[in-house]
Amino acid sequence: MLFSQVMKHVPFYSLDYVEHDLGSSLGESVDAVIKSNWYIRGSHCSSFEKSFAAYCGKKACVGVGNGLDALTLMLKASIVLGRMAEGDEVIVPANTFVATVLAVRAAGLVPVLVEPDPETCNLDVARLADACSEKTRAILVVHLYGRLADMPAICEFAKAHNLLVFEDAAQAHGAALDENNLLSLVPSAGSGQASRLSSDSTAYSFYPTKNLGAMGDGGAVVTDDLELAQVVRSLGNYGSEQKYVNKYVGVNSRLDEIQAAILLAKLPHLDAWNSRRSEIAARYCAEIKNSQVRLTPLPANPNAHVWHVFPVFCERRDELQEFLKARGIETLVHYPIPPHLQEAFVGAVDRGELRHGALPLTEELARTELSIPMGPSLTDDQVAYVVESINAFI
Ligand SMILES: *Cc1c(COP(=O)(O)O)cnc(C)c1O
Repeated sequence: MLFSQVMKHVPFYSLDYVEHDLGSSLGESVDAVIKSNWYIRGSHCSSFEKSFAAYCGKKACVGVGNGLDALTLMLKASIVLGRMAEGDEVIVPANTFVATVLAVRAAGLVPVLVEPDPETCNLDVARLADACSEKTRAILVVHLYGRLADMPAICEFAKAHNLLVFEDAAQAHGAALDENNLLSLVPSAGSGQASRLSSDSTAYSFYPTKNLGAMGDGGAVVTDDLELAQVVRSLGNYGSEQKYVNKYVGVNSRLDEIQAAILLAKLPHLDAWNSRRSEIAARYCAEIKNSQVRLTPLPANPNAHVWHVFPVFCERRDELQEFLKARGIETLVHYPIPPHLQEAFVGAVDRGELRHGALPLTEELARTELSIPMGPSLTDDQVAYVVESINAFI
């Protein structure tokens, strides 16, 4: 037996890189908040909002409590502004984390689940026309696994059918379209800087393990639409713009000062962390060679993909997972049960709360997907060991 086979342990994801790159400066950031005696809606949150909006090439960022709230509030804000109405249909990829679907329901809208393109695992643009009805008002795109969906084609379709476009970028902090594509899509009124994604509004999560993670819950809505941003901010603050004056029926969902200070300290490192993820992904793509293991192809523009997780697909997924576990390699499944098969949605189609046809591709992905170790902490040796192990699976 090889030495490496008995000795190695490769965690699925480790946050050691944060300590390595930031050291004591995170503690100093938290100390500054503690000393400020101001913990909600203060200067750290507004600094982070400014920095993250600039990073995304957008005009506004509103910090909220978590990613699910970011999604829900941007949809609700569009309803408040009269751009959609409760009961309208929103196209959502069927292959996503359940929160995307929960947010559409929470806003009183009807999710219409659409099959993925089997190559990219993201929304299949060729299926959009069939998914539309006279009640369809929007597409909520998800950049799953950190891979950008086909935004130029989706935005073109949306324009032709008069639909709004929203993005769930909870797994895609820092993903960037090719700038030429982007500028032709978004006649950028303002900064002159290319924006990272192109839609009416984008929701982010800062859950600790995301590419940009807080040390607790956090989320944000990022947009060029100042009116929408204003309504999101107000909805997350009890529906109030002016203290004790309530304009809307809102909720309490705010990014606190400690989380904002941590995100502010981490943001300058995000591009480097994403580059390390890209390096690892490129090695996986080049070196994993096993006829039983399918990979998603590398995108033409490597910057378009920030590899939140690295998925592989295998008919004998559970056996592969056991095999890797026996070699000390941790893996996870994203996701074992697709949203439409969750107990929470039993009867939802009959009640008119969810719409979908047969979803065999989504179910196949749930049955065969395995996420292998990915993240800035992974060493070259660990990458080599993961590759060697997958290639040894018979
Ligand atoms: C993490 C995630 C969310 C939810 O974010 P939370 O901050 O955990 O609420 C939504 N959508 C996707 C695709 C996610 O990965």
